[in-house]
Amino acid sequence: MEATGLNRVIYGLDYGYHRLFLDISNDGHLLLRVRDRWVDLYRLVSEKGVSSAYIRVPWLIEYFMDLVVDSFREAVEKHGFNGRVYYAYPLKASSEKLVLETIYKHGRSVGWGFNTGSLEELRAVKGFIGEPRILVIDGVKNREVLMIAEEFRSKGWRVYVDVEDERDLELLKDTGLSLGLRVKLLGSSSGKWGSAAGIGSKFGLNITVLEGLTGKYPWVRERVKLLHVHGGSQLTDPGVMRRLLVETANIYRQLNSLGFKIELIDHGGGVPYPYVWRGHGNPGYSIREYADMVVSSVRELCSKDSCPGIVFEGGRFIVAAHRIVVSKVISTRPYTAYCTDNKGFPVLDEIRSARSIDELRGIARKLVELRTRLYLNVHNYGLEQRRMIEELEACSRELIAEKARELLNNNPDELGDLVKYMNYLLEYLISPSSRFLVDMSVFRDLPDKLIVGDYFQPVPLQDLDKPPEILAVLSDKTCDTMGEISEYIAPSSVSGPVFTSKDNRLIAVPGKELLLKGVPLHDPGREEYYIAFLDTGAYQDMLSMKHNLLERSTDIILM
Ligand SMILES: *Cc1c(COP(=O)(O)O)cnc(C)c1O
Repeated sequence: MEATGLNRVIYGLDYGYHRLFLDISNDGHLLLRVRDRWVDLYRLVSEKGVSSAYIRVPWLIEYFMDLVVDSFREAVEKHGFNGRVYYAYPLKASSEKLVLETIYKHGRSVGWGFNTGSLEELRAVKGFIGEPRILVIDGVKNREVLMIAEEFRSKGWRVYVDVEDERDLELLKDTGLSLGLRVKLLGSSSGKWGSAAGIGSKFGLNITVLEGLTGKYPWVRERVKLLHVHGGSQLTDPGVMRRLLVETANIYRQLNSLGFKIELIDHGGGVPYPYVWRGHGNPGYSIREYADMVVSSVRELCSKDSCPGIVFEGGRFIVAAHRIVVSKVISTRPYTAYCTDNKGFPVLDEIRSARSIDELRGIARKLVELRTRLYLNVHNYGLEQRRMIEELEACSRELIAEKARELLNNNPDELGDLVKYMNYLLEYLISPSSRFLVDMSVFRDLPDKLIVGDYFQPVPLQDLDKPPEILAVLSDKTCDTMGEISEYIAPSSVSGPVFTSKDNRLIAVPGKELLLKGVPLHDPGREEYYIAFLDTGAYQDMLSMKHNLLERSTDIILM
């Protein structure tokens, strides 16, 4: 069906790993793969009778773990690398019990361990002390942290406690624990967590400080077994990642030439997950290429009889896909007002009779000026004048969109100029016509949208056999204006302009990723209408906020 193909493109169902676990059923429902079966998500949530839920799929964590292990195996073989690769899961990406259990169980064959950054995280992994693995402890140390570390060590775990300053060394000097040396990378990082590297970054030691400390605590040279760095999360630029690896290799070489006996190199996180096609979200390298870069950089450090081991400490990449937020549309409203009676403004007649896109652009500019004038005195207006303004807003948007669609259908060549030069007009065409109230809280469900401006792909759970009908802003249940979703990154891989079928908004053009001011969806009518937000498994559980006292959503676990 043609609409199904269009929806696959519009909602990114073929992008990145989505193709692996998402599909569309014959009746237009979103299907989610769980191992070798496909689950109809619309049926699932409507049968459960919930209007907001987190769908969790441990299999998706296992899948990405396997992908990482396979990638490293391949790279180890290719480079004839003689060292070992260890895997440590950083709890800060998600310390949900289900996540930890999945990683612990599924990671048995490679001994997948943990990286903790706080006493509380360390307590959370105590339940998994049974089988010895690797444990890298960073964050603030105190006596309880060291006691738990000793407990793990006595059970046969490889435990490394990071040192970052003199206080850490004082605390650790009378223990038998191996040390990790958290060193600051000076090379510039990139992305939203770029400040994780650099001389002023929050974590790690500078070499000058380290030199001072080794003078006072000479035993440090013997006890440091692990070199630990972290260049930031979601490092999408392969050049940045490669330079950080070179820098790490240099630090290792020089420390060992100063008499250190470092056995393991832990490169921290940063492996990017492909959330969406555009710029910052789009990794410039795959997990296979990452493993290849890491192994080949460490391979250079091997001596005749030994190689340093590698610790893979990615978090986001492993857990991002496993949680999907689902929320139901509770009610719908017009974005501006209803256009009921579009008389009284000659400019509206001008729109109706426009004969070219260029003419329409002139009218759009005129409307902006007219609006500025009308709003100047708005505080003194009576109801009738307010009604007129509302009508002007609603009718002009409606008529311009309709007219632009008609003109572009007749003359597709004008699209290029419209997208490049006609800002006023384009604004009209990518602005929403509706506001949907949805059962969710951006603060609770997608906090990184507010904290770092992350983008989580929305996809409707039904009607995927119909083309998108309406461009809508989504309002959440909090009484906070920040609790709304009013952006959508349109795909550029369409063959011609795509308009919504009911409100005529322009939702995609070939060769350019439009940043729409609403989400392309359908008219919910009287049916139940649900929207999913993909790839919310990393960090969102941990950063969740309780704004307006909204409690946790319902978990639906698909084993
Ligand atoms: C945050 C962090 C990670 C995980 O980073 P991702 O980008 O989620 O893979 C790994 N190691 C350390 C030390 C971290 O601080």
